[in-house]
Amino acid sequence: MPELPEVQTTADGIKPYLLHKKITACSVSVKKLRWELQKDLAKKIINVKILEITRRAKYIIISGKNFYLTIHLGMTGTLRIASKKDPRMKHDHFEIQLSSNKILRFNDPRKFGMIFYSLESPILSHRLLINLGPEPLGKYFNKEYLFSKTRNRNIAIKSLLMNANIVVGIGNIYASESLFLSGIKPSKVSKKLTKKNCSDLVNSIKEVLKEAIKKGGSSINDYISVDGKSGYFQFDFKVYGRTSQPCHICQSDILQVKINQRSSFYCKNCQK
Ligand SMILES: [Zn+2]
Repeated sequence: MPELPEVQTTADGIKPYLLHKKITACSVSVKKLRWELQKDLAKKIINVKILEITRRAKYIIISGKNFYLTIHLGMTGTLRIASKKDPRMKHDHFEIQLSSNKILRFNDPRKFGMIFYSLESPILSHRLLINLGPEPLGKYFNKEYLFSKTRNRNIAIKSLLMNANIVVGIGNIYASESLFLSGIKPSKVSKKLTKKNCSDLVNSIKEVLKEAIKKGGSSINDYISVDGKSGYFQFDFKVYGRTSQPCHICQSDILQVKINQRSSFYCKNCQK
């Protein structure tokens, strides 16, 4: 599943192809992704000029004057830039043609993605976006904030980090990795985190995400980079997916446990 670094990489990747281009055609070949698509979607976004590409949580927002096209990649969604001569691929459900003759294609085998347009910014108006927590790389996500959010909370810190109302865009991979980096056990009860824990954890989250964005997202097999080339970039995971392999720091086996039905990976020596 694409996490924040993959979404950021995708947004950055499509940006130069979309910015200041007009949408000359739009084709929708599916009725429903995660939800039913707006019936007039294709009609509404034709002839508008794209002025901005932004990301909020895992939503990519393509916008122009009084128009916002919001795309969520869901579990298996990808966006790629194609030329008119490139044939459509299986599971290409949506595309926009640009005045440059390039095409932006959305492919999604499992159809958990989302595409919708709005006249107002979805950040201020859409029910899925208005209550989201702060961006992990933004200044509002800091040690004081995390400390306050962990008080009186009896849930595992890993589950808290993955709650988008607390902080957005941290999925299973980067929650596991940043907890390892800060020496905190994923099952640790949130309210037991010290101020120092919160400070270390915030720093680790920012560090891990920045590193992953620099490397162009992590490594899951169904990601296709925007120019159509295969593959996620390999991110050097310290614990994620490394069950029974030696910890890079102390050599003891990395353990796997389920927390809130999600596989979690940690080192029992290095994380307390
Ligand atoms: Zn260790």
